[in-house]
Parts: sequence; structure tokens; C-alpha cells
Amino acid sequence: MPNVLFDALFAPLACREDAFLILPDGSEITGAAFLATVSRQAHALRAAGLGAGDRIAVQIAKSPEALAVYGAAIALGAIFLPLNTAYTAEEIDYFLGNATPKVFLCDAAKRETLAPVAARHGANVLTLNADGTGSLSEAATGLPDSITPADCGPDDLAAFLYTSGTTGRSKGAMLTHRNLLSNAEVLVDLWQFTSDDVLLHALPIFHTHGLFVASNISLLTGGRMIFLPGFDLEQVLRLMPRATSMMGVPTFYTRLLEDARFTRDLAAHMRLFISGSAPLLSETHHQFEARTGHRILERYGMTETNMNTSNPYAGERRAGTVGFPLPGVELRVMADGAEVAPGEVGVIEVRGPNVFKGYWQMPEKTREELREDGWFITGDLGMIDPDGYVVIVGRAKDLVISGGFNIYPKEVELLLDEAPGVLESAVIGLPHPDFGEAVFAVLVAQKGAALDAGPALEAIRDRLARFKQPKAAVVVEALPRNTMGKVQKNLLRDQYRDWFKT
Ligand code: ATP
Ligand code: MG
Repeated sequence: MPNVLFDALFAPLACREDAFLILPDGSEITGAAFLATVSRQAHALRAAGLGAGDRIAVQIAKSPEALAVYGAAIALGAIFLPLNTAYTAEEIDYFLGNATPKVFLCDAAKRETLAPVAARHGANVLTLNADGTGSLSEAATGLPDSITPADCGPDDLAAFLYTSGTTGRSKGAMLTHRNLLSNAEVLVDLWQFTSDDVLLHALPIFHTHGLFVASNISLLTGGRMIFLPGFDLEQVLRLMPRATSMMGVPTFYTRLLEDARFTRDLAAHMRLFISGSAPLLSETHHQFEARTGHRILERYGMTETNMNTSNPYAGERRAGTVGFPLPGVELRVMADGAEVAPGEVGVIEVRGPNVFKGYWQMPEKTREELREDGWFITGDLGMIDPDGYVVIVGRAKDLVISGGFNIYPKEVELLLDEAPGVLESAVIGLPHPDFGEAVFAVLVAQKGAALDAGPALEAIRDRLARFKQPKAAVVVEALPRNTMGKVQKNLLRDQYRDWFKT
């Protein structure tokens, strides 16, 4: 029996003597050399007790060796569980308690702090550093350069990926070989990736975007990746001339636009810029086009399903939308148990080979969100525009209900963002003695602009129904964001919880 993911993604590297990874200093790692690392690591992990169906949790800095661990886990038929490198020991305690992995891999610098945590949950601890040193590499030295992968069918689990924790506690989404491969195949086709592509990879590899979308696509096509430890503007500007494509979160694009060295010339040879993980402002989309001539392709996905929708490669990439459902993925917008009419807002549900198997150790949450007939209730609010483009309106949990009226924060935010001096805004609902909830705005000033909340609210007064208007606003330095650039509205709601009570 084959190993679905290994055969499609990793095995073909064996005959690649050309570069697979290009590193920031310009040095290269061939496909064959990368696969040899995968194989040696797999033998070492097996010696550490990891076998088919076992879980391996990793919290390690991004590096070629760190990416190889993904391949090694898949080769053994194990379940790969990458964790955000920003998580503290307390957070890791939660994840290891939830996942109870056989092996836990961390950076050597964190071993002292994390080894007791891992021991509490019965995991063997190994280390791996970004420079390729650490106990895993030591254990792997001299082990065979090839491996016979464990048998894995399409419905076998390949990974538990924890959600970003934007709306609450992170949940471990159980993903199968089929989930991951079917999505990568569709995206390669849709975005026309080939072995000629060189993908500028500055995303983290503990998240679906950088690990499954970006890396799986490159592995599947036999393309190359310029593999950066993170988004470093200097490195990105320096290495873009060698790339053909880039995947990023919206903040990558705003940071590029802030730099005068990012010119039309620098982007001229690029084939494709893709954005996802958080909403791309229409303003950013238009500024990017004006500067470079490229229209960023925005798509929409999540940990539980990988990608759901994409703007077209050849057709119109419409700003403010996330495009059409991917081939093979069904998408519907629901309210009160029925599909809503086009243009009306409801909760987005998706079904298809990309949809996960459920949340690990959270049967109730799984029952709540994953219907028996396969539809997954995403928790995102959206609508379908008259031409079939999907528009994300926000999260159901962020909907504000004030005096019995529904208010979609995004509608208010889009207007506030146009007010003089406002760079960006976050609109939330706060407890209010009369209205249940009241609309509250958190504003960030444009660079160098003096911003007062009063005039900003005044500027939108004539453009918005009274019940949607913020009852109060504050100006802050920056909005709280997680590592994927998502605004953490739950933190804002906590911070200003008592605003209308006093
Ligand atoms: P949690 O589920 O733990 O609260 P999370 O939903 O942020 O965290 P992810 O799975 O990383 O965790 O993020 C998926 C979410 O990101 C989607 O449900 C959606 O809200 C948002 N998102 C992704 N792409 C886009 C996009 N192009 N436009 C708007 N929102 C997007
Ligand atoms: Mg989510």
C-alpha cells in the first residue's frame, strides 16, 4: 500500500539534483539532499519511539531542517502537530495536555523550560535548532539516507493543526492525507504553479498557510522555494528578483507598500502575489496595483479546511472579495436553517474533500460545527455578490447586537477607515445597560496624523444608520494582532468591557 502524501510530495525529490530550497544567503539545498535529511530524521524519530499513528508535536524555529521534520513524520505514518513558536510554556502545557504526543521537539534554548512540561504529559523530548544542530540532528547522523514509508491511505490522519485562537481557545483540527493532497492539487491547477515557479516563502510553517498551502504546492509541482526564516523586509526586497510568486498575509503587502524601494521594476517579473489568512483591505489591493501593475489574488481558508475559495487566476480578481469556491468545494450561506438569497448575509458553510475529520478531544465542539452530512459551519459571516464572488463580512462571534439590531463591524470599519487621519479601525460590541451591547470603535491614526475620536465619528455620521454608529471610540497605537496578522477582538472586548458600565 502506498503512503498518499509521502508519495506525492516527498518521494519525487529523490531525483532532483537541482535546488529545492534557496536560503537567505543565496545558498541552495537540492531536492535529493532535502529528502536525505527527511529520511535520516525519520529513522532517528523512529528510534525515539515514534511510529505509525503516533503524534509528534513540534515548536521549532523555521528552517529547512524544521520543514524536513514534517516529511519525516509523514514518512513514518505519524501525525504531525506544529505549534506556534510564540507560545509560552503555559500555552505549550495546554497543547501537550490536549495532544499527548509521543515525541515533543523544541529549540535547544527552550529545552530546560519545556522538558518538564513535556515530561508531565509523557512525551520524549528532542531538540532542533534553526542552524541544523540539536539532539534530533545528532541522533540522525549516520542513519540511512533513504526510507521505506509507512503505508497510509487517504483517510489516515496526517496532521493535527491547531487553530489560531483568534476567537477563543485553539482547537486541534484533525486533517487526513486526502484533505491535504486534494487541496494542494486543486490549488496547483487553479494558480497554475509549475516546476518553473520560485515561491518567496516568508510565512511561518506552523500554520496552514505556510505549511500546507505554500510548502505542499511547491513540493507537489517540483518548484523551488526561497525559504526565509520570517518576513524580513530587507531579505524580501533583496530576493524578490529571484522569485516568480509570493504568498503572504495582508501585513506583508502593506509593509512592502510602505517602502519606496518596492517598485514596479522590482515586481515586474513576478507572476503572482497571493493574500490570505486575514482580510486584505481594498485600499491595499488598489495601492498595490497602482504601484506594481499586479492585482493581488485573495483567497479564503482556515485550519479546518485548508482553502475554500480563491479569486480567479485569469478572470477578474475582485477587491474586497475572496473569489469563488474551489473546484470540488461546496459553499453555502445560511441563516435560520436555510440558505439565504444572494447578497444577504449569513454564516458560511463548506463541504468537500478538504474538510477536516473533527477536533481532537473535543467531541462536543465537533458535533456543534461539523454536521453529519459533511457541512462544516465555519463561524464566518459572508454573502455571495451578484456575480458569485464570496464576500467575508466578519466572524459570527464578532457580530454586534445592539437594541435588537444586527450590526456587522466590517461595514462600520470600512467607513471609519476612510475618515480623515484614520489608518485602520476595529469595531466591537461592549456590554451596555440599555442596549444589551453598544457599538464601540478602536482607531489607529495614520502615521504623523493627529487623530481625535470625536471628529472621526462625526465624519461617518451621515453615512450610517444611527443604530450602527459607534457610541464611543478610542485612539490606540496599534491593534492587537496574532502572528498571522489577525486582529484579536476578544482582547479588545476584554480590555474595554466596562466602558459603558461606569
Ligand atoms: P480560532 O478558530 O481559533 O478562533 P482562527 O479562526 O483565526 O482561530 P485560522 O484557522 O488560522 O484560525 O483562521 C481562519 C480564519 O481566518 C477564517 O475563519 C477567517 O475568519 C479568516 N480568514 C482567512 N482568510 C481570510 C480572508 N481572505 N479574508 C477574511 N478573513 C479570512
Ligand atoms: Mg477559526
